[in-house]
Amino acid sequence: MKILLVGAGLSGAVIGRELAEAGHDCRIIDARPHIAGNCHTERDAETGVMMHVYGPHIFHTDDEGVWDYVNRFAQFMPFQNRVKTTAQGRVYSLPINLLTINQFFGTTLRPDEARAFIESRADTSITEPRTFEEQALRFVGPELYEAFFRGYTEKQWGCSPTELPASILKRLPVRFTYDDNYFFHRFQGMPRDGYTPMIAAILDHPRITVDLGTDYAPEMAEAVDHVFWSGPLDGYFDYRLGRLGYRTLDFERFTHQGDYQGCAVMNYGDREVPQTRITEHKHFSPWETHEGSVCYREFARQAEPGDTPYYPIRLVEEKALLAQYVDLARSTPGVTFVGRLGTYRYLDMDVTIREALETADHFAAAARAGDRM
Ligand code: FAD
Ligand code: UDP
Repeated sequence: MKILLVGAGLSGAVIGRELAEAGHDCRIIDARPHIAGNCHTERDAETGVMMHVYGPHIFHTDDEGVWDYVNRFAQFMPFQNRVKTTAQGRVYSLPINLLTINQFFGTTLRPDEARAFIESRADTSITEPRTFEEQALRFVGPELYEAFFRGYTEKQWGCSPTELPASILKRLPVRFTYDDNYFFHRFQGMPRDGYTPMIAAILDHPRITVDLGTDYAPEMAEAVDHVFWSGPLDGYFDYRLGRLGYRTLDFERFTHQGDYQGCAVMNYGDREVPQTRITEHKHFSPWETHEGSVCYREFARQAEPGDTPYYPIRLVEEKALLAQYVDLARSTPGVTFVGRLGTYRYLDMDVTIREALETADHFAAAARAGDRM
């Protein structure tokens, strides 16, 4: 079959590769001048530092199949994300762990004592936390919430934590040990040469052609048997029901001789400090040595038409609109909506790859059986 894939990010690349291996001819287009979507990395011309152009990406997963898959296409270097935060004039370790608790409260608590202490500050009248704020008050109490979460979250999401779902905070652990690894997962790492060469290797197949700097036009679909769409779901329908809300990020680049902050990610918990965080990219490749350093000061705001969509908002209003677009998508034959933007969900890279593999498998099996898609 002839397949068109819109978007050369992880979704388009993995589906394209699997379908090419199953004997289908795949054309992949992307509006951007590069492959790899939001995972795109490139060397900074001035310093040689490997830059995560659309924000830092750390690979972490418990899915052994996905880990084997990415290791087929890139050499992964060990990397664990150890985030710090500046709040109320001091620097602390994240995610909240025994060091954070002892430094913040000026204590020397051991694990069980810390657990009991935090439980004593927590609002135990909240039995089923629904909002971000309720989740924080229930599990870390008001002091840590105020210092580390309230201001940061207001800046990141542009609204009060009372309006956000508890699920956003559930992404972060609270640990009663000195383990400061940001993620729980068994497999963690960073591709040695960046994500873009890894995705180039995925795309390197004789049945795949890639056209960059190419916007989707409806007549492209007429030349193929099926379309996989990893662009914005509402964008496919020309926003006819309205726009699904996104937060976008502005990155203010600056350089520094030597080491600017001594770590890859420094968050800023205070609401008076406008950035959410500063990322220093050479610390994402600790096996390399660079004299110069490049940092991004990161600011979040509501996405306007034309901005890069980063975080789907998914509050009540957006959920209602999303349901209408999902209905529209279901009644559109010949197109499968995939990935972060095509399904309007926050998807980590490992989940994106797992879903792409399953989508391609399902499609290839149906094509073999001669089903209409
Ligand atoms: P995308 O990478 O967004 O690719 C979609 C592509 O479609 C884009 O290149 C776009 O240009 C193209 N496109 C859209 N519309 C059109 C059109 N009309 N015509 C042609 N092309 C079009 N995941 C992790 O596992 N670890 C992390 O540390 C991590 N950090 C992240 C940090 C940030 C700030 C963000 C936003 C995400 C992060 N992620 C992380 C998630 C990761 O970026 C996604 O899992 C991944 O990029 C999803 O790939 P995708 O192909 O679905 O989407
Ligand atoms: N968060 C916070 N303070 C921090 C880090 C995170 O309040 O120092 C909140 C914020 O609302 C964020 C959420 O916790 O959206 C999830 O954090 P994570 O690091 O997973 O954010 P993401 O990777 O989505 O940017």
